[in-house]
Amino acid sequence: MGNDNHKRLVLPGPVEVRPEILDAQTEWMIGHRSTAFGALFARLQEKLKQAFLTNGRVYVVGASGTGLWEAASRNCIRDGKKALHLVGGAFSDRWAKVSKANGKEIDVVAVDWGRGHAPEMVEEALKKDTYDAVCVVHNETSTGVLNPIHEIAQVVRPYEETLVLVDTVSSFLGAELRPDEWGIDIALTSSQKAFALPPGIAFASVSDRVLKRAQQVTNRGYYFDFIQMEESLKKNHTPSTPPIPLMFAADRQMDDILAEGLGRRWQRHMDMRDMTHTWALDRGFGLYAQDGYRSPTVTAVLNTRDMDVDQMAKFMNDKGFSMDKGYGSIKGKTFRIAHMGDMQPNTLEAILGGLDEFLGM
Ligand SMILES: *Cc1c(COP(=O)(O)O)cnc(C)c1O
Repeated sequence: MGNDNHKRLVLPGPVEVRPEILDAQTEWMIGHRSTAFGALFARLQEKLKQAFLTNGRVYVVGASGTGLWEAASRNCIRDGKKALHLVGGAFSDRWAKVSKANGKEIDVVAVDWGRGHAPEMVEEALKKDTYDAVCVVHNETSTGVLNPIHEIAQVVRPYEETLVLVDTVSSFLGAELRPDEWGIDIALTSSQKAFALPPGIAFASVSDRVLKRAQQVTNRGYYFDFIQMEESLKKNHTPSTPPIPLMFAADRQMDDILAEGLGRRWQRHMDMRDMTHTWALDRGFGLYAQDGYRSPTVTAVLNTRDMDVDQMAKFMNDKGFSMDKGYGSIKGKTFRIAHMGDMQPNTLEAILGGLDEFLGM
């Protein structure tokens, strides 16, 4: 790669992308109405369906995850109806804002940062009111909380009008996810987190129920109109010009992911979570996320040692690692160690070893 001043990203997005995946982007360009493109999209679609464990469809858009929040809210919530947003951190809060910014009415079930959403909270809300959708973030990247989306979907499923919309941006391919089996209507993700691709492309598995709903929504907008995407998808096309280089990269990355196997990939992330927990607790740090809800892809370490996170980041930068210093209002009080994407346990060991050196251990 171009510069030898490379710092390995230990951030919870964008994450480190392997050189062979970066290289895959440099294929000669093809037209998006060509047969070559149709073949690429068909091939990628099959692989994505295996990754999402779905028999349905996976839409591919030139956008970051935020675009698909807008798409999901826009296509699934009817005028005069409401969505229920489960909020417990920066990203779940922002999705709720996106729904509102698109003129959607919402109710919120809020929990303190660091806590997860129990299915009972959702059950209670559904008894009191009716909703077109429940919007939940699988892995709240700001706090390191993994929500029990399977159990949450189970309590929503008896309500036929209510779609289950899940943000899997920082968990897709890093934590177990079975949209069809679990009754999840949309699982959306962007590329630059647990998928370990460069930023700029986003993916969503979409159920038939969503397409039926979208037909009843009067103003779906244009760029993210699922009805139009479905029409194009049937021809192995996209409505507008897609990020072709990123699709080459995704196609290549999918081969490696499917070769590793989903089960093994999920396990690797759980192993790295356990390594990080052991390291943090042994050094006298705490864990920010509630017990039982801790993420396999990112750990928010509670900085009970009052370590200077700026100094830590500087020290680690000199060792070749770009570290996180904590998100927003919990910066310094926490710092996050991302163990997502293609990171291997031996790399994590080197990172934790570097942190030990900084701590003088
Ligand atoms: C980063 C992130 C987003 C926003 O995704 P972009 O790709 O930056 O638009 C949404 N949800 C979660 C959980 C995230 O971590």
